[in-house]
Amino acid sequence: MLRAKKLVLLSHCLLNVNAKVGGLANYLGAQEELISYLVQKGFGIIQLPCPEMGCGGARRWGQTRQQLDTPFFRDYCQKIFRPIMHQVIDYISNGYELVALIGINSSPSCGVNITCSAASWGGELHNWSSIESITQELELIPYPGVFMEQIIISLEVKDIKIPLLAVDEADPASSLSEIKLFLEGEV
Ligand code: SF4
Repeated sequence: MLRAKKLVLLSHCLLNVNAKVGGLANYLGAQEELISYLVQKGFGIIQLPCPEMGCGGARRWGQTRQQLDTPFFRDYCQKIFRPIMHQVIDYISNGYELVALIGINSSPSCGVNITCSAASWGGELHNWSSIESITQELELIPYPGVFMEQIIISLEVKDIKIPLLAVDEADPASSLSEIKLFLEGEV
């Protein structure tokens, strides 16, 4: 039977860049280098849902972790991950291996160990003196995004361990090399 029984969970926009906030994109459609590699090596791909697209649509503004860190968004993240969680449980109980979850560092939702932060973002733009005063506050912090954090909690509750990897959109080349290096050991 031609079936490797190895699966990778991918953040949605690695297969569909159109879900990203307008103006943010490093590729035309799918992250070709990563996807080609996964296909070539025989990994099955489970595409996670995009929580921001599902809440804010294609015309949403870019936001920070603090803006998304609400009970409403967390509840939504849990809800959309539930069907994936069911698949994960069923695959594992049938001898399949969840080799990695690949998120997007810097994202306020899908960052694995880096997310974007700005403590006082929110409200009307005209309350700020300038665009620079808004963007000056923005920083990257060593923390997961809100969706990823909810995923981690859901996996921990079921005692499921899946290695977490991330594409770093600020430095895709080196993060992709690290991902490939890790996955080579899983082929
Ligand atoms: S929320 Fe996640 S899946 Fe959606 S665009 Fe942002 S990083 Fe990609």
